[in-house]
Amino acid sequence: MGLIKNSVEQGQQAVESMVNAGIKRIHSVLDLLIVGAGPAGIAASLAARKYKIDFVTLEQDSLGGTVFTFPRSKVVMTAPMDLPLHGKVKLFDTSKTQLLDLWNEVLSKNEIIIKENTKVEEIGKESGHFVVKTNRGDVFHTQNILLAIGRRGTPRKLEVPGEMTEKVAYRLLEPEMIAGKKILVVGGGDSAVESAMLLMDQNEVTLSYRKETFARIKPKNRNNILKAIESGALNMQFNTTVDRIDDHSVALMHNEGEVEILENDLVYIFAGGELPTQFLQKAGIEITKRFGYTVKKH
Ligand SMILES: Cc1cc2nc3c(=O)[nH]c(=O)nc-3n(C[C@H](O)[C@H](O)[C@H](O)COP(=O)(O)OP(=O)(O)OC[C@H]3O[C@@H](n4cnc5c(N)ncnc54)[C@H](O)[C@@H]3O)c2cc1C
Repeated sequence: MGLIKNSVEQGQQAVESMVNAGIKRIHSVLDLLIVGAGPAGIAASLAARKYKIDFVTLEQDSLGGTVFTFPRSKVVMTAPMDLPLHGKVKLFDTSKTQLLDLWNEVLSKNEIIIKENTKVEEIGKESGHFVVKTNRGDVFHTQNILLAIGRRGTPRKLEVPGEMTEKVAYRLLEPEMIAGKKILVVGGGDSAVESAMLLMDQNEVTLSYRKETFARIKPKNRNNILKAIESGALNMQFNTTVDRIDDHSVALMHNEGEVEILENDLVYIFAGGELPTQFLQKAGIEITKRFGYTVKKH
């Protein structure tokens, strides 16, 4: 998988193409605003510093993007990645922490501060430049915007009572630290299945999926989860949806309408992501769906 490496390359290329197109400085307007601090946004930020661009990077969540949220500590890279202002990084089979530490180190060496927990909500135009508004009430004026927002968007919520409590999470961090808990994992994709399997040895895990079988998961995950179900290592509940989340229990609704109450300490929801479609449309990007593919037009 050269995915992280590709993102790093593309983030850098985007900035380089902007520089090649020429930037004219405008008083109190940024040259560039980078949205997202995954591998692409980090590389773009470093490239922006390298070319002495006046920029700001905003991240709705935590630095590292999807890499930060991996439900496992291992990261696999098949080829070296070339980080602007740092050089070739030859980490092939590394830990998530090692990669995040490296990014943090290179960013801080170059005095780049990424504004975390800051979500871009609106992009508008005003006298020839962009005006960007965030969930924290900041307003940025910028000539260029780089959307390094990945594909995950914002995790999809189930919109059920009790979902806003602390025991509910949309990503699994440090699974090795979680033991002796009664856990509900929701979803039927790779993230849900991988997370359930990481948790099942040290905890009592129920995996709830609204469909009657796993549809699009990696063959390796399918084999392993089917084995786990057969051996009773976890409690699989196909054809169920979450009805309610309470402090010490969850209510699962079966397709037939029957509601089952399970004792519960933690809930992990992997129900896909809300694509940032509305956000892009508001920014003036026209989106049309053809043959199942999403086409973005400027
Ligand atoms: C479970 C899993 C395992 C993987 N394992 C590997 C692996 O071992 N090796 C590998 O090379 N690749 C792996 N990948 C793929 C890799 O994670 C992605 O290719 C890479 O993270 C994409 O980088 P990105 O910067 O384009 O997007 P992302 O990493 O998704 O970063 C985008 C960032 O933008 C932020 N954002 C989105 N919208 C907004 C907004 N409106 N305002 C502010 N911020 C916003 C998001 O919060 C996010 O942090 C894996 C992916 C998954 C899901």
